[in-house]
Amino acid sequence: MSSFFDKLRLTKPKLEKTGTIKSGKPKVPGDLWVKCKGCDTPIYRKVLEEKLKVCDKCGFHHKMTSFERLALLTDPGSFEEMDSNIFPVDPLDFGEEFQVKLARDQKKTGLNDALLTGTATIEGHKVVAIIMEFFFRGGSMGSVVGEKVTRALEYAAEHKLPAIMVTCSGGARMQEGVFSLMQLVKTNAAVIRLGEAKAPYIVIMTDPTTAGVAASYAAIGDVILAEPGAIIGFSGRRVIEQTIRQKLPADFQTSEFYMKHGFIDRVIHRRILKRTLERILNFYSNTDEKEQTPEKEEA
Ligand SMILES: [Zn+2]
Repeated sequence: MSSFFDKLRLTKPKLEKTGTIKSGKPKVPGDLWVKCKGCDTPIYRKVLEEKLKVCDKCGFHHKMTSFERLALLTDPGSFEEMDSNIFPVDPLDFGEEFQVKLARDQKKTGLNDALLTGTATIEGHKVVAIIMEFFFRGGSMGSVVGEKVTRALEYAAEHKLPAIMVTCSGGARMQEGVFSLMQLVKTNAAVIRLGEAKAPYIVIMTDPTTAGVAASYAAIGDVILAEPGAIIGFSGRRVIEQTIRQKLPADFQTSEFYMKHGFIDRVIHRRILKRTLERILNFYSNTDEKEQTPEKEEA
């Protein structure tokens, strides 16, 4: 999965732990410094975390864990987790190696699968938060992710709560084959039921939002926001170029490109993401009040 993303961003260097500072300087512990993925500058890890993992120099938005994202967007102490008792299986019998990887990612992320769901408040507005976890198998969507997304959206519909979806995923989980693909339609149906319940569905696309996730519940928000420079798309750049035999623009498959072409509503810096969500939630709660006044019957 990681090699897939490496191909997607051929022009950008990878974020790597810098075990040493080049040109013969003394060694520093690898976990103290990271190299910016956007401009290659070594940054003190603590400073990067204080800046919400955004590079001061070039503005590159590095990936956040789902719990960091939760802390960024919701009011402290307001989160109540849902469905933490659903665990992934190995339906196509990929064997021990795959199961070891799942167990390793569970330990690393503190999650049962690549998704964190629950209720929380954002500046006092109660919402259902659905946050994907890239550090669990590349945020891949398998049966557990699909089921948890569906349950969270159904809860939001039942209680008429806004659903906030943060996507960060390479797409469907290949090791679950058709079971992963079935999640596309299941989750989309849940989004439609949320709409019928007149509860808003707000999507925040982060880097990367690709393939089966981009093609399902990420793309059908009432409001779609994205972080700057996020890779968004269905197929990889090379595949498309080879298929249509044309060179694609340099900013192809970035959030800025998608906004320019009307696919997403706004590219928002991480620093003002929570404030923006609050404004959107204020807007929707005012709309709800208006809708409560009886409408004239059609003639
Ligand atoms: Zn940078």
